[in-house]
Amino acid sequence: MNFEQLNLLPQILQALKTQGYENPTPIQEQAIPHLLAGRDLFGSAQTGTGKTAAFSIPLLQLLSVNQDNNTQRGIRALVLAPTRELAIQISESLRLYGSNLPLKHTVIYGGVSQRAQTDALRKGVDILVATPGRLLDLINQRFIRLDKIEMLVLDEADRMLDMGFINDIRKVIAMMPVKRQTILFSATLPQEIRSLVAKTLHEPVHIELSHASSSAETVQHSMYFVDKLNKRDLLHHILTTDTVDRALVFTRTKHGADKLAMALGKKGIRTEAIHGNKSQVQRQRALNDFKNRKLRILVATDVASRGIDVDDLSHVINYDLPETPETYVHRIGRTGRAGAAGIALSFCGRDEMGLLKDIHRHLKTNIPVIGEHPFLTKMPVQPIVSETPAREKRSGNFSNDNFRSRNKRSFSGSSRRENTSRRRY
Ligand code: AMP
Repeated sequence: MNFEQLNLLPQILQALKTQGYENPTPIQEQAIPHLLAGRDLFGSAQTGTGKTAAFSIPLLQLLSVNQDNNTQRGIRALVLAPTRELAIQISESLRLYGSNLPLKHTVIYGGVSQRAQTDALRKGVDILVATPGRLLDLINQRFIRLDKIEMLVLDEADRMLDMGFINDIRKVIAMMPVKRQTILFSATLPQEIRSLVAKTLHEPVHIELSHASSSAETVQHSMYFVDKLNKRDLLHHILTTDTVDRALVFTRTKHGADKLAMALGKKGIRTEAIHGNKSQVQRQRALNDFKNRKLRILVATDVASRGIDVDDLSHVINYDLPETPETYVHRIGRTGRAGAAGIALSFCGRDEMGLLKDIHRHLKTNIPVIGEHPFLTKMPVQPIVSETPAREKRSGNFSNDNFRSRNKRSFSGSSRRENTSRRRY
């Protein structure tokens, strides 16, 4: 299928062409027709699948087509996202896909002065992208009204839940007209999300691209058993001896992220850390440098990394294993995006064996262990999940035939370097 077959406006087709997108991704192919038909949609898909365009394109098209010049201007579509980074990325996507349309949008998020945001709101916008906290704040200050909303998108709803935004979201929804189109995306489906869907969406279409635990289909995973005290040296060893094009390194704590970035810097590897204690300006600068390839190594905590959209990120390195297996899936989703291959390396110390066991259970497979490296630590018992098919154990690649069949490229680690330009479907 190509974009022409999706009945998109010529202005949107032109914008997609400018972006170099040739064919829709699976989530776009499935979601766009339902959304253009006005249906509510509940999508289980994580970042990297092309879900931002899957909701942004129909949103832009419907708002353009249904534009009534006589009505008083008000915010017609609201996109809620858990973090400022993700909100900025969505806003950037709307700008790109909507570049030939007269619709106005803006993005609001906390941690910065509200002045520029309220100035933009005063001028009038059709689409507002927001994080929940700042949205409620500006609603309370009467800068924003939601009584003209026609479309609502809740992106990464499970993250918003994890970050404690669920009550804010309920409050915001209660301020909107009941008659509207609602779209909700969530990588995982905890009970609260299911109940939010049941209460908020009207007879939604459910699109499940793949179960979250198997969605990292193009990523090659490896596990390093290493003593906690040797993790830093192991990372330095990998960064200096392996071909690491660009790596996002995850630590559990903000302090750990700072210490690691500083230690690598002392050894001559320029590294920046992003986490909640850094200012928005610092975070955005580090992210931009990373995106623009001025910075090869970025250390991040989970919250700061949400939605980081970096094309062709070759490596995700779990310096510390995450507290929950879902977070493992989210982290590695930063690489192997939109069908490209990626590499996920994880360090596991003795004290993290329980976490590894949880990850294996969740993935229903074992992450292949690197049997030889200079800092190898013997582990008491390896947490093994028995039902892993031998094929998966050998390759370390998680299969997803649905996604892969549409992508003609090879996904083996060795051919990864060929895929350095923007992916085409
Ligand atoms: P997302 O899952 O929305 O974060 O998108 C992941 C990446 O895929 C982004 O860098 C998009 O620019 C890219 N992308 C989205 N749709 C397409 C497409 N149809 N063809 C090529 N790249 C795409």
